[in-house]
Amino acid sequence: MTPQEGGCLCGALRYAVRAEPSHVTLCHCHFCQRATGGTHMVEPIFDKADFGFVAGEPRLWTTRSEGSGLAVHVHFCDTCGTKTHLGFERFPDIIGVYAGTFDDPNWFDVRPDASKQIFLNAAQQNAVILPGIPCFEAHMSRMDGSENPSHGVGAPVIVGKAHWSPEA
Ligand SMILES: [Zn+2]
Ligand SMILES: [Zn+2]
Repeated sequence: MTPQEGGCLCGALRYAVRAEPSHVTLCHCHFCQRATGGTHMVEPIFDKADFGFVAGEPRLWTTRSEGSGLAVHVHFCDTCGTKTHLGFERFPDIIGVYAGTFDDPNWFDVRPDASKQIFLNAAQQNAVILPGIPCFEAHMSRMDGSENPSHGVGAPVIVGKAHWSPEA
């Protein structure tokens, strides 16, 4: 495939990926709300080997995942502050891109069979839960690798002030 490029607001950071995302996470946790300023992060996941910077060098800020306690690495431009991607101590071979930083944020599909909606327990009011994509209250996988139960919605659900629930 043609490499897909993206970058920060000021253009100092430019990156390219050379493969389709393995899957796409739509994360509604408060960390992602704070980091994006929006209702959720659209996070296509790539093998680390398929992602690289073609201009500039990101700054790194490391924090701890509330759930696992393991390190999450936030990469950003030290001129304009745009975040480009996340790295994970828990999953060292993959990275998650801030989808809106792609030059064409629509180049990949959010496929129902390769996507998930997570941390719906923190979903912001007016966020939209998409039909056909598995929903999880928090993380999809437990620390032992097993999967938490998932729910789904048959039609788009707009989160209300009472927060999302499987019955919504
Ligand atoms: Zn920048
Ligand atoms: Zn999140």
